[in-house]
Amino acid sequence: MSINIILIGAPGSGKGTQAKMLIEEFGCVHLATGDILREAIKNQSEVGLLAETYIAQGKLVPDKVIIDLMRDKISQIPRKQGFILDGFPRTLAQADSLELMLSALEIEVDRVIYLEVGLKKIVTRMSGRLTCLKCGRSYHKIFNQPRMDMQCDEDQAELTVRDDDKEHVVIDRFKTFETQTQPLIDYYRAKNLLSIVDAEQDIQFIYNTIRDTFNNK
Ligand code: AMP
Repeated sequence: MSINIILIGAPGSGKGTQAKMLIEEFGCVHLATGDILREAIKNQSEVGLLAETYIAQGKLVPDKVIIDLMRDKISQIPRKQGFILDGFPRTLAQADSLELMLSALEIEVDRVIYLEVGLKKIVTRMSGRLTCLKCGRSYHKIFNQPRMDMQCDEDQAELTVRDDDKEHVVIDRFKTFETQTQPLIDYYRAKNLLSIVDAEQDIQFIYNTIRDTFNNK
């Protein structure tokens, strides 16, 4: 089964974790804008240099930069493989551009999953989040520990706390989500594509609920 999915959720809602589980089951392409941008920063590419200050401050990178970047990435997805968009779109302008990109490629989105979580839960989760800067996988000091202390299970690279996972930046990122990204909920509801999932539950429960949304489609 091939699936085309958009994951929407505030920082710390578990988009990356759920995306990785979906990929393991469905083998689709995972496009995570945050990971792509962090890689660009690491390589000091033009996009990376542009994005760096926005990310550090918990602000969104300008639409034009993201839209150009994603147009390129989406056009490279093998048709039959399916995709998970994780962190894109994040504004109405991005959503409109995505619709144009996909219709030009004659691709349809199957489902938009909104992972709903409150700020209090997000701060608890993010305060223990560890990230592998090599592959982007996330762990948690208490809830989702790596097998070896501070080492990624996938590639054994050292785990770090992202600068933008610090508490005051997390709160700013949440506010950015509320003002800029939340309007997408109504946008996709109006298109009959939206499923809301209670993402305060545990990882496996959330995954099962997401799976149910395809079965009940
Ligand atoms: P994430 O890892 O998805 O939480 O993204 C980390 C940061 O990258 C965000 O706080 C934004 O600064 C930037 N970013 C990621 N995706 C987008 C997007 N679609 N539009 C604008 N900025 C983005």
